[in-house]
Amino acid sequence: LKLVYDFGEGNAAMKSLLGGKGANLAEMNRNGLPVPPGFTVTTSGCHAFFEAGRRLPYAVEQQIQSALERLEKERNQRFGDPDNPLLVSVRSGAVTSMPGMMDTILNLGLNDKTAEGLASLTGSERFAYDCYRRLIQMFGQVVFGMESIHFETMLRRLKKQEGVESDQDLNGDAWRRLVREYKEGLLRHTGRAFPESVYEQLKLAVEAVFQSWNNRRAQVYRKINGIPDDQGTAVTIQAMVFGNRGNDGGTGVVFTRHPSTGEKVLFGEYLLNAQGEDVVAGVRTPEPVSLLKSRMPEIYRELEQAARQLERTGRDMQDIEFTIEKGKLYLLQTRNGKRTAQAALKLAVDLVEEGLITREEAVQRIEVSHLEQLLHRGIDEAAVPEVWVKGLPASPGAAVGRIAFEADTAEAWRREGKPSVLVRPETTPEDIHGVVAAEGVLTTRGGMTSHAAVVARGMGKPCVCGCEAMAVDLERGELKAGGKVLREGDWITLDGASGRVFPGRIPLKEASATRELLTLLQWADDIRRLRVFANADNPEDAETARRFGAEGIGLCRTEHMFFTPARLEVMRSMILAESEEERRAALDQLLPMQQHDFEGIFRAMDGLPVTIRLLDPPLHEFLPQREELERRLDESGSPEERERLKRMIRKAESLHEVNPMLGHRGCRLGIVHPEIYDMQVEAIFKAAARCIEEGIKVQPDIMIPLVGDVSELKVLRGLVEQAAEQVLSPDMRAHCPYRVGTMIEVPRAALTAGSIAEHADFFSFGTNDLTQMTFGYSRDDAEGKFLSHYLDKKMLARNPFEVLDSEGVGQLIELAVERGRARKSSLKTGICGEHGGNKESIGFCHRTGLDYVSCSPYRVPMARIAAAQAAI
Ligand code: ADP
Ligand code: MG
Ligand code: MG
Repeated sequence: LKLVYDFGEGNAAMKSLLGGKGANLAEMNRNGLPVPPGFTVTTSGCHAFFEAGRRLPYAVEQQIQSALERLEKERNQRFGDPDNPLLVSVRSGAVTSMPGMMDTILNLGLNDKTAEGLASLTGSERFAYDCYRRLIQMFGQVVFGMESIHFETMLRRLKKQEGVESDQDLNGDAWRRLVREYKEGLLRHTGRAFPESVYEQLKLAVEAVFQSWNNRRAQVYRKINGIPDDQGTAVTIQAMVFGNRGNDGGTGVVFTRHPSTGEKVLFGEYLLNAQGEDVVAGVRTPEPVSLLKSRMPEIYRELEQAARQLERTGRDMQDIEFTIEKGKLYLLQTRNGKRTAQAALKLAVDLVEEGLITREEAVQRIEVSHLEQLLHRGIDEAAVPEVWVKGLPASPGAAVGRIAFEADTAEAWRREGKPSVLVRPETTPEDIHGVVAAEGVLTTRGGMTSHAAVVARGMGKPCVCGCEAMAVDLERGELKAGGKVLREGDWITLDGASGRVFPGRIPLKEASATRELLTLLQWADDIRRLRVFANADNPEDAETARRFGAEGIGLCRTEHMFFTPARLEVMRSMILAESEEERRAALDQLLPMQQHDFEGIFRAMDGLPVTIRLLDPPLHEFLPQREELERRLDESGSPEERERLKRMIRKAESLHEVNPMLGHRGCRLGIVHPEIYDMQVEAIFKAAARCIEEGIKVQPDIMIPLVGDVSELKVLRGLVEQAAEQVLSPDMRAHCPYRVGTMIEVPRAALTAGSIAEHADFFSFGTNDLTQMTFGYSRDDAEGKFLSHYLDKKMLARNPFEVLDSEGVGQLIELAVERGRARKSSLKTGICGEHGGNKESIGFCHRTGLDYVSCSPYRVPMARIAAAQAAI
């Protein structure tokens, strides 16, 4: 079995075998780009390693050995030869890119002898021992698990002794002494000696990189990004090139387009006289790549050409790692670049216009997270006070939260529902759970490609980094700048789009659509078959929904119209009524209020379908909590008020149910108290009539909730039809083509969909209740009590309240659609649960042949894209 591939033997299509990094290095090599030679141990090698009990199988070792010999020939150097040493990097490379999550070791092949050899060969002791100390540190951390802080302390002490500020000012002798100290430290802290044998080094390094597939941060990253745990990583072994041999070299990272805006310019950072890790780790703050243009114009031109070539082969924006050695450019990595939402959309549209990809591909590439980010909030500029400090605008969007200096703090606060902003000197992959938990990230060190920036952009979190005017004192839990001190728990606001930081809480503002978004949505609309409706309960939401492109309202929850204080009072009088007369009087007051709202919604939708659900929740939800009533009774003086409160308490008692979600709600209310539904339907038709008189088209779809048996629908359909007859003149009725349909949210309704369809013009799957009743999970209790346990233990792959359970709940939907349509071919079908805004669930709806999905107005653009993606 072939477990090792030279670069010459691979290509970009072999990612699952060679990992993203290995496959792309091979591809670059094929295309004649300047890549230092090397070879890749496959992901199968990784599986073999784990199967052998975390030991490198003999076959792998052997194949590495022969590949190494080929590499020695090609480079005309020998591994471990003091006279002409070959040095290599040992690089991790997962199938799906996981930037910075796993380990890489540089300068492997140095020991006391070869270091000396390298020094005399290059005439630079300083260079040779700088490489050597880097090797010992990386090796110590990755292979022996020694904490970086120990190395950093020793280095800091050395600089103090030598009286220098920066690493570059240390001379060869100082680095040589540090090497000795590092080795002693390694022995002291880990009990293990740095191996003099270069083959031992290589073997241990390869094993450690395989092992790093299972380190904590890699596991967390995979979980967040939905990367399967069994993919494994490849290991690439590659001849070293050196950016740290002097000021005619350096290392950097460049994006082929601006990763924040998508603009077609080279964007990136580099450091002169440095090795790769220096830029990525945010140790020194690097220079923008645009400066390279004047410093090394030849190199810049070459880089630019390579960038365009890599974009053409990759058919996407690339993130490229490069090193310059003695005035020669080398490419060390390319991958599709992480980008902000704004950049992703601009890029998708630009690439279509440049003829690199099709419209379908452009739509297919849009990620839900990107749209969410784009439709995200920014700072309300009208409310902006003076800027406190400014850092680098690393990831757009605004964040307001309490300062958390530790990732664990941010995570703990998240659990308490407290929004936080993670503030660190710099972040490392160990902080990733804090980045997930925080609203945004602020760092004082590191550039636009530092760890914090890359991770935040990928997650769509606002991030400001390299905010050097600010000092973080972790020990005292303080953040200082410009004479002002903030402490842990204090509020802070970030604007990741501009890099501004403000003390306190600044009001935020919603974002608006860009030209690129509108273009992509237009393309998506041409591609998709599913229609996209919105859930909207009032005229404002209806208008928002229209603006985002909703083609109708799929769910208008009428009870939401009763939740303003004045209306709630009337609603309570209605509930407390002791006679039908009293109840009618209260309903008479409610009617014009509802009518007014319906008019507004009809106006906003202007002829598009408006699906109105009649009252659904149990009545006790409109009364105050029992404890609240009793507290008020204790405080209340006036006899009338006390009387009313007592009545409410009695009423609340009589309405009390053990299982309210399975109790007296939905159509069961309409059956027992028809006067409530009567009022609602009358309000709908009166509103329709008013609008028709104004020349506005209306399409009311009246929806009966919680039907479980056809008899319920039959009775209530009769009620609606009677009201229509009473309220609308025959002429009006011709202009008001109303429909009557039902929610399918009780499993029995799905099973008896055939007979229900005889009395329904449409089915709307209420997948929240349907999921709740099919699983028998109470939505309000499950999450906190046992569902998270099921998810952690992987007993359920996904939370069924977030992603529609296509296997179980989905079967009921398929069956209901089939039986319903068999009875009535004109039956309209759609879903209106939370799932209507979930990409995978929308895919299911498309495959099942539903007519529409309905989701919250802000998710409508996402649903339009997801519906198109499902159709491609
Ligand atoms: P990561 O996946 O964390 O980015 P890499 O394997 O890309 O890790 O290595 C980190 C850095 O080390 C890269 O930025 C690259 O510049 C540098 N590097 C890796 N291999 C070599 C090499 N053969 N020669 C010079 N620099 C290298
Ligand atoms: Mg890299
Ligand atoms: Mg329901």
